[in-house]
Amino acid sequence: GAFRLRVRDVLTGAREEAAAAAVINATGPWADRTRRLFGLHDEILHPTKGAHLVFPGVSPHALFAASPKDDRMFYILPLAGSLLVGTTDTAYPGDPDAAGATDEDVVYLRESAEEFLPGSSLFRSTPFFSYAGVRPLLRGKGATESHLPRRHGVFREGPGGRFLTVAGGKMTTFRKMAEDAVDEACAALGRKGLCTSREAPFPGEIGGGKETAEAFALSLSGRYEATAELCRHLVSLYGRRAERVLEIAEESPALAKPLSPHSPDIAAQVVLASREEWARTPQDAVLRRMHLGITKNRGREAIPAVERLLARLS
Ligand SMILES: Cc1cc2nc3c(=O)[nH]c(=O)nc-3n(C[C@H](O)[C@H](O)[C@H](O)COP(=O)(O)OP(=O)(O)OC[C@H]3O[C@@H](n4cnc5c(N)ncnc54)[C@H](O)[C@@H]3O)c2cc1C
Repeated sequence: GAFRLRVRDVLTGAREEAAAAAVINATGPWADRTRRLFGLHDEILHPTKGAHLVFPGVSPHALFAASPKDDRMFYILPLAGSLLVGTTDTAYPGDPDAAGATDEDVVYLRESAEEFLPGSSLFRSTPFFSYAGVRPLLRGKGATESHLPRRHGVFREGPGGRFLTVAGGKMTTFRKMAEDAVDEACAALGRKGLCTSREAPFPGEIGGGKETAEAFALSLSGRYEATAELCRHLVSLYGRRAERVLEIAEESPALAKPLSPHSPDIAAQVVLASREEWARTPQDAVLRRMHLGITKNRGREAIPAVERLLARLS
């Protein structure tokens, strides 16, 4: 292969060497750091930070508008029995792992929310939690960070153009990004095949609209020991894969039980996260793969039970 890679598993410390004819760098906001490992020191990203606050409060309405303070995208959305207030969009050249909501972010979000709903005391309370992430935007022209284009690009660099970086884009364009990256990698390797994901259904895809999803949830409830409410919840998270969760729940009565009073999530979802979604740690399962992770305590109360379950599975 054109590349010899030394890789280290940061969870276990295991080291391995691998040879590769091509490398695809799909490390999002870390993409430039990864390029540096390959000796490429210019930058293709203009990373920006987005911070959010989650407040106590319930509303059937969602608000999406330009912030009266500076015309940036702004929203107040119902989220798992709370209100999500976001977002900021500020240049962030630092370590993506260290991103968090600063005091300045909190003031900006609180004041914007209060300008939309003057007189409301909703946003004077202490938020349940805040979170922030770094957008891997490509360098480009824009009056402010919010005006930078959200397009993606595939960059062929290194020997034979076989070190490929795919970056930019949005969560919603992930399939197109993957297709373009694979097609470019095939071109770099002189292979003719084109990526076929366009025809492949999404994992768990049900097809049709809300009615089809509702009919599927009710059919699950008829076939498994599960209420229609739980089935709707699981279908909203997993689509057709909700059936896998219910199959696992039949393995033992404890797996059919909820893990917290704050979420309908059941223990079988932890097993699915471990067996089929590569979750390794309790936080990995709860924060990245379960509804619990967006509830007011972020699933903290369920962590000991999740830890015991994962220990039994490993
Ligand atoms: C606050 C915020 C709000 C957003 N809102 C939306 C939205 O509403 N809609 C939307 O469509 N998009 C949204 N996005 C954008 C979307 O999240 C990103 O565009 C998308 O996640 C980028 O996907 P990616 O696969 O390129 O990178 P990522 O999803 O960041 O994945 C990169 C992965 O690489 C891993 N990695 C990094 N370095 C290494 C290494 N050395 N070895 C192994 N693994 C490594 C990381 O752990 C990470 O899992 C938002 C982003 C942020 C930050």
